[in-house]
Amino acid sequence: MKKLISGLHQFQTSYFSTHHALFEELARGQNPRVLFITCSDSRIDPNLITQAQVGELFVIRNAGNMIPPFGATNGGEGAAVEYAIQALDIEQIIVCGHSNCGAMKGLLKLSKLEEDMPLVYDWLKQAEATRRLIKDNYPDLESSELLELTVAENVLTQIENLRTYPVIHSRLHQGRLHLHAWVYNIESGEVREYDPTRHGFVDPDGFVEASMQGCTLSQSPSVRLLGLEPESASSTDKTMTYNRTSNHDSWLSPEQRQRIYRGSASQ
Ligand SMILES: [Zn+2]
Repeated sequence: MKKLISGLHQFQTSYFSTHHALFEELARGQNPRVLFITCSDSRIDPNLITQAQVGELFVIRNAGNMIPPFGATNGGEGAAVEYAIQALDIEQIIVCGHSNCGAMKGLLKLSKLEEDMPLVYDWLKQAEATRRLIKDNYPDLESSELLELTVAENVLTQIENLRTYPVIHSRLHQGRLHLHAWVYNIESGEVREYDPTRHGFVDPDGFVEASMQGCTLSQSPSVRLLGLEPESASSTDKTMTYNRTSNHDSWLSPEQRQRIYRGSASQ
């Protein structure tokens, strides 16, 4: 705690004192352009990984970066989503999962949590769609590979859940809202964005390039359900920067990427 108190002083004497204009502007109101939904995990810092400034991201955090479907609960997530879209007029939503996610590990052994952590158990039950998809489609995978896939599938599930909100449904219909599925890799610092044209998680910069070349949407009905239109990336906030330390198309293997969509049962 002493370290935090010391940090408060340091913030006031250094950063705050050299950014007066910014904080005066922020004191008059906020105008974030991105809703960033991510996990409570301490190893993720949305502003750090995107190099966004204070005031630029409206953030929702919880265990497993989850947004329960509209009407499923009366929690704060739906209210925050509605406020972000209706009141703040945000046009970009990012759901960002991450590697080695404890919540997704818990989801993979959900029944064991019921007695020791009943509240966590209740919360994770809201990711039942992810759990079921993984259980039914990836029965033979090793645990580390299974966890990666669960993280990726869960992000896509939350994108689908977002679409159940009336305010989001309406804005998508108007073409005024874009949804992005990201996975952050803690070990490499890299972010991958789901690209429905390639059925995989790719460098967000590559996603933009591919999209601008006029790639067409996949014929997969489940891809269309996601609402990740290719043109969405062309309006991605250019103030954000991404790590480009690797030329790899994805941190998932081609086989994994295939399974994300089609399931190992149909291989
Ligand atoms: Zn997590």
